[in-house]
Amino acid sequence: MTNPMPTASALLGDCRRILVTGGAGFIGGAVVRRLLRESEALVINLDKMGYASDLTSIEEVLTELGSSGEKRHQLLRVDLTHAKATAEAVQAADPDLVMHLAAESHVDRSIDGPGAFIASNVTGTFNLLQAVRAHWQALPAERQARFRFHHISTDEVFGSLGPTGRFSETTPYAPRSPYSASKAASDHLVNAWHHTYGLPVVLTNCSNNYGPWQFPEKLIPVVILKAVAGEPIPLYGDGLNVRDWLYVEDHVDALLLAACRGEHGRSYCVGGHGERTNRQVVEAICKLLDTLLPAGAPHSRLISSVRDRLGHDRRYAIDPTRISAELGWQPRHSIEEGLAATVTWYVEHYASA
Ligand code: NAD
Repeated sequence: MTNPMPTASALLGDCRRILVTGGAGFIGGAVVRRLLRESEALVINLDKMGYASDLTSIEEVLTELGSSGEKRHQLLRVDLTHAKATAEAVQAADPDLVMHLAAESHVDRSIDGPGAFIASNVTGTFNLLQAVRAHWQALPAERQARFRFHHISTDEVFGSLGPTGRFSETTPYAPRSPYSASKAASDHLVNAWHHTYGLPVVLTNCSNNYGPWQFPEKLIPVVILKAVAGEPIPLYGDGLNVRDWLYVEDHVDALLLAACRGEHGRSYCVGGHGERTNRQVVEAICKLLDTLLPAGAPHSRLISSVRDRLGHDRRYAIDPTRISAELGWQPRHSIEEGLAATVTWYVEHYASA
């Protein structure tokens, strides 16, 4: 699949200072790497450096780019739950564009300890919005006119689907886990700051991402690493929960298009046309590993059903018509291509670690 995706530099135009929150995480890291490789912008990476943070992939790009690259990436180790530190960080960053990805992101952790999700995702977004509003209001007219706040959210805010239908921008919110409820709350705050204060915002709600550098607690890296280690591969319940898988680099395309060309106050749903049951995904990974690392017996023998997640949403699927029609986005990878690239990356990366 191909599409005429403009470079980050072409999309950013005069936006020279980009504040990426959560840039040490999985998706934020992919955004930072793209910005460093494809533009001349200064990337200010605000992250609390929690358990899911890893700067290795960014350091690799900085090494690739040499001394010019190093000057273009700044880490601000800040926790958004601290209002004062957040305000100071935004002031120091002085951004033209904010891409807000920082969040507690793992549903299972939100079931075990919801408080951290309310603190980071709700209070953290509130603190950031307040800091960004003060910054935006104080900008000179020309910079104020091009300023954007892009909030990155999830399709999980829409709840769970039956066997048919897809989520779109007009689907009512119906979050069902502490994680999705905290993300829904953050979406509402962002919209409120737009309608009340006029803050120029854009929102995106995407489906499940996968790809290199994902923290190994989410389904795809867990399955690959367990299978490679010859350990039981956990599969929740009957394995028939459906997710609409999105390759992370395709998501970065969508994020840059929405951040730079999306309409103020508008949201865009992003999905990879990759609907698969968890069982199908696990079996596809096992097949890829049978070829890459033959183990004398199919890796699928390791699949082992485990007790289902509490309140496990049955099916998510996205209708990405708006972002395709209005911003020209198309995923560049089929799920087969994305999974093959991901499995190969984990095998090579962990084998050489
Ligand atoms: P991740 O967990 O890999 O990374 C999140 C980063 O945010 C981490 O580095 C963490 O330290 C940072 N962070 C968390 N709380 C913070 C705080 N209070 N202050 C500063 N930094 C903080 O998550 P991800 O998978 O990269 O997801 C990024 C964003 O995309 C999140 O907002 C998530 O809700 C959204 N999203 C993710 C997916 C997915 O499949 N991964 C799907 C839909 C939406």
